[in-house]
Parts: sequence; C-alpha cells; structure tokens
Amino acid sequence: MVNITDYTIEELEEYILSIGEKKFHAKQIFKWIHRVGVDSFDEMTDISKSLREKLKENAYIMRLEVLQCQVSKKDGTHKFLIKLSDNNAVESVVMRYHHGNTICVSSQVGCKMGCKFCASTKNGWRRHLLASEIEGQIIAAEKYMNEKISNIVYMGIGEPLDNYDNVVKSVKLINCPEGLGIGARHISISTCGLVDNIRRLADEKLQATLSISLHAVTDEKRKEIMPIANKYSIKELLDACTYYIMVTGRRISFEFALIAGVNDDEETARALAKLLRGMIAHVNLIPVNEIVNGQFKKSKPQDVDRFMGILNSSGVVATVRRELGSDIDAACGQLRQKYLDEQENNK
Ligand code: SAH
Repeated sequence: MVNITDYTIEELEEYILSIGEKKFHAKQIFKWIHRVGVDSFDEMTDISKSLREKLKENAYIMRLEVLQCQVSKKDGTHKFLIKLSDNNAVESVVMRYHHGNTICVSSQVGCKMGCKFCASTKNGWRRHLLASEIEGQIIAAEKYMNEKISNIVYMGIGEPLDNYDNVVKSVKLINCPEGLGIGARHISISTCGLVDNIRRLADEKLQATLSISLHAVTDEKRKEIMPIANKYSIKELLDACTYYIMVTGRRISFEFALIAGVNDDEETARALAKLLRGMIAHVNLIPVNEIVNGQFKKSKPQDVDRFMGILNSSGVVATVRRELGSDIDAACGQLRQKYLDEQENNK
C-alpha cells in the first residue's frame, strides 16, 4: 500500500501511469486530497468507480488525528497535539494575527540538536516527519477550526534542515496551486544553523523566509547553550546567511531568546548590532520560555527594552515577539512532553 498523500503531482502522475490509467487523473486526485481534504477515495466524485476501486486496493490517504486541542482564553491561540499513524505525537500551534492565521508546524518527532533551553530535545530524536505529515498538520488544523491558514512557520518540534528532503518537499506540496496554494513568501523555515543545508536551501530558490536561531554573539557562549555551535562557527553561519540573501534576495530573521544574565546585557546587544549591521535582517527578541528545570530565566522587561533599543538605534531592526498562548503552554515541546510523561505513567 502506498501513502498517496505524500506524492507531488508529478509523482502522482507517474504512479497513475504505473497502474495503467491516464495521467490527467493525477491532478483531480491531488485536488481532492490536498485542497478539498477528503478522507476516502469514494468522495472523489469525478473519478470513475473502477479507478476508485483500483486506488483503494493499492493506496491509502494518510490523515493525522487531533488528540487534543487547547484554546487560549486570552488570544484564541490553538495548540494541537497531533497523532501520527505510528502513534507518535507532535505539536502544532495556530496563532491568530490581524493578517490571518499562522501555523507553527513540527518537522520531526523529537530533536537531535540538544539546545539547552528547548523542551523538544529533552527526550531525544525518534524520526523525521514525511512531507505529507508536515502538510497534514495544516490540513488537520484547518478542518478542526473550520478556518483557513495563511502563513506557516517551521518552528515546532524538530530541526527542519536536519530533515532537508522532506521539508523541501513539504514546501512544494503546500505551494502547489492544486493543493493548499500557499505561496513560499508566506512560509518561514527556522534553523539552529545547519550551514551546508542553508546553502542548499538558497539554491532551491524557494522564496521562503529563513529564520536563524542565533541566541549568542560569541562562539564560546553559543557552545554553552547550542551544541551545533561546536560544528559551525558564527562566522560560517553568517557567511551562509549572506549567501542566502544574495541568491534569493530575501531578508533573514534572526531569533534571539533573551535569557537573564546569559545573553541580555548591553555588551551583547552592541556586539549583535555590529555582527548584523549592513545585512538585510530582522531580529526577533523572545524572552525565553522557562521550561527546563528552571535553569534559564526570562530577561526582565526593562532589559528586553534596553536590548531592543540598542539594536534599533544602531540601525538593526528588532522587535519583541508578542507572547501568545501563555495560558496554554504554547512553547514548543511542552504539550508533547506531558503526553510522553502520561504514556510513561500508564505503562
Ligand atoms: N530547530 C529549529 C526550529 C524549532 S525551534 C530552530 O532551532 O530554529 C523554534 C524557535 O524557538 C527557535 O528559535 C528556538 O531556538 C526557539 N526556542 C526553543 N526553546 C525556546 C524557549 N524555551 N524559549 C524561547 N525560544 C525557544
């Protein structure tokens, strides 16, 4: 049995030909699966009964199940716990902004990167998500909410550029006009900085926004909180960013999680301004979510303001990320963590 949901139109065309049918059915089937979101072949009313029967014998439509959805009373943020077909679970979060709904999708079950402040990495890595499982989070959330989603950020569980092929394929599935039809300009891919794959991504010429999780301005400090810094230096990372901007013409976002006493001082702010000056960049400041054993504390609001002020007055555009869903544990990895703990307790 093949997971037909994971096929691009081109792959679906090949598949349809391989079962002895006419190529044009591929687009029809793709629309039913990705745009209409049907759960069964029988709902594909413009396809002959005999082809539907043949499809049923050879293929299945993979859907994800919403296990739980918490809705913030404060701002309407929806936080989903989503079950994959092998019983693993990932999280997706839908945030309501005035310009539309943004979904934060997961790209892996767990994460290998080991960032010290991040909940997603605590139980290690289990597997990559398929392209259809990444896109499937959007379809599941749209159905559940009965609302459209217009923007996608790859900032849920996992490191997108560690699951490179499936992530790039998922962007293509999401872009496809016969499917969700969401343009790459409405998609942001976030990475802790896999330099080689940032360069590869630039060469795909996808027009997606790249977000870099920087969080420190010296290699020494970055190594303390992000193991990936042992592999690539900040200089190598920024060189790859410059390449990305050169090839795509797209601005880069830098994420900077402000941790009290670790990276929120004036000197760091000045050094960050110096590092990014002249680059087409935007800095997102995020007071760190306190999750891991209380080891990392949020910066004080006045320190956040001071940090932002230094960047802005040095000509680097910086904003503080508005905190959404603070009443429902919306920070990545926390809900899955609870689910894992519960499974453990039920054994
Ligand atoms: N692996 C990718 C994408 C997932 S994390 C990456 O590293 O970019 C999405 C963003 O949330 C990253 O910028 C990450 O560093 C940040 N993040 C993780 N844990 C956090 C926490 N406790 N507080 C604030 N930001 C956090």
